[in-house]
Amino acid sequence: MIPVTFKGLIIVYLSTMVGIVILAYTLAAIRRRRRERHALQHAVRCHFCALEFHDNSPSPLPECPRCGASNERTRFARL
Ligand SMILES: [Zn+2]
Repeated sequence: MIPVTFKGLIIVYLSTMVGIVILAYTLAAIRRRRRERHALQHAVRCHFCALEFHDNSPSPLPECPRCGASNERTRFARL
């Protein structure tokens, strides 16, 4: 058995709790970023009328449902 003082036990407990909080925050940030990337994967913004729509077709130039203009797929910038 390892001799541990009460002060050492408190330090180990607090270090473990801080580690768990940091790990949970990091995992939540990774999940949120992955969810955002997945949500914006098929998003297209029309360069003509600025309508944002989702297009799941494999077409490289999806047509805008409002004005019919062909649009290039560009990545949305994160705020
Ligand atoms: Zn449009």
